Amino acid sequence: MAVLEEPIQERLQLRNYIDGEWVESEGEMKDVVNPATGKVIAQVPISTKAEIDEAIDTAKDAFPEWRATPPLARARCLFRLSNLLEESFEELSRIQTMEHGKTIDESRGETRRGIENVEVATGIPSLMMGYNLEDVAAGIDEYLIRQPLGVFGVIGPFNFPFMVPLWFAPYAVATGNCVVVKPSSEDPISQIRIAELAEEAGIPPGVWSVVNGGRTVVSGMLEHPDVKGICFVGSTPVGRDVIFKGCGDTGKSVIAQCGAKNFVLVMPDADLERTIAACMTSFYGNTGQRCLSGANLVIVGEGLSAQQYDQFYNRVVDAFVDAASRIRIGYGLDESIQMGPLRDKGKKDRVLGYIQQGIDAGAKLRLDGRNPQISGDWPDTCFLGPTVFENVTPDMVISQEEIFGPVASVMKAASLDEAIDMIHANPFGNAASIFTASGKWAREFQYQVQCGNIGINIGIAAPMAFFPFSGSKDSFYGTLHGQGQEIVRFFTESKVVIQRWF
Ligand code: NAD
Repeated sequence: MAVLEEPIQERLQLRNYIDGEWVESEGEMKDVVNPATGKVIAQVPISTKAEIDEAIDTAKDAFPEWRATPPLARARCLFRLSNLLEESFEELSRIQTMEHGKTIDESRGETRRGIENVEVATGIPSLMMGYNLEDVAAGIDEYLIRQPLGVFGVIGPFNFPFMVPLWFAPYAVATGNCVVVKPSSEDPISQIRIAELAEEAGIPPGVWSVVNGGRTVVSGMLEHPDVKGICFVGSTPVGRDVIFKGCGDTGKSVIAQCGAKNFVLVMPDADLERTIAACMTSFYGNTGQRCLSGANLVIVGEGLSAQQYDQFYNRVVDAFVDAASRIRIGYGLDESIQMGPLRDKGKKDRVLGYIQQGIDAGAKLRLDGRNPQISGDWPDTCFLGPTVFENVTPDMVISQEEIFGPVASVMKAASLDEAIDMIHANPFGNAASIFTASGKWAREFQYQVQCGNIGINIGIAAPMAFFPFSGSKDSFYGTLHGQGQEIVRFFTESKVVIQRWF
């Protein structure tokens, strides 16, 4: 099939958006490369400390007036933004494929999920309401109001360059705060387009800014006394050791949504055809670069004899490998493609390192993705095919650490309890799924499993925008999560007023 028209034809020189102005950075420029074609599609600045300071200072100046803007007027800006995003839906989706590598269908899904957050944030007059009670004592009434706090920083990961900052920024703005977004410097173009549309939507200068860059920008946010809190999504070492710690040291509120190693359980009564179809998206969607990706496939022999278990195990693994081996790999702007490249060569090398570790540890490489067949004439720099390991045990590194690539580790558990113990032995707690027709097993799974996002006959347990994007253990540091009601609470402070009239 033909490749769709690319929305980026000429190399972009990205700028920062500070105080309503598009400004060139004094920092060095870094290439943004389309991982499928190898072409440089943009250059992004690695901004300086002075630039992040300026963005925060001007956001602080914009805060009093924005805070005093009625919630419905703030919501109207977001209605306009949501309409503009909708009008640019296809362009935005294709940009994501170009800057990240995911397939166009995956990008369209990401665009939809991102816009849904803007839509939910338009409900701010209701979401932000407090409550009251009269006559709490003789002639005394009491009420609670929620107030915005000032300036917040949002730091995004590379794997969902469009959607993840939208788990936070629209709600920050809706609640009357000002926000400075730092996209991943690996794929920052979507966030620049969003800021352009935010400007067009009439969001005032200083209310929604974008500063590109890396560590300097992040430490600038952490050190600046006028940043009230940080929303971070990324890897566990950075989330835990840099962001959570840094916010603790400087007294900022924090959300740090981090890494994952997700288990998918297949019970003997699962609908095999639908389970395998769901597993393909779970394990190989976004080329495995998703915090909700399936990573460990646990085939559970609950209630089966040894012989029945062997047969069941083989049926599941054969069907899984067969489906995985038929995934079409190539440039995501070709609509027939089902899996794109990894984001860059460094990430591919990292995954190759894990594959080697699996082999060295004695796991059986049942499907080897190291020399994939690529549809189309693209350099093989970042492509890797679906990979399946069998005979994986809980002590192996490949079953413990986040690989963040298209690698499935198949494991065995004799019972549901044993499988749940395996999940709990892992330090991450982002997501876990079970495939079963049994309400009893499903209920037991949801009740016992200590993970933030639970899938029942769902391979990617991604919460909708009006639910929190959850997580626990090493997948999450903070108290509240992105999206919906929880993020509204994060961006506001409650104030209780007790009043008596004489
Ligand atoms: P990353 O931690 O490398 O980078 C995240 C952000 O932090 C980027 O903006 C980056 O520029 C910045 N950063 C990186 N190193 C830094 C440092 N030393 N000091 C200060 N800032 C630094 O993560 P990534 O590779 O971009 O994203 C992938 C990770 O994100 C995976 O671990 C994935 O599981 C996780 N993730 C989690 C969720 C969730 O909701 N739990 C969602 C999406 C992605």
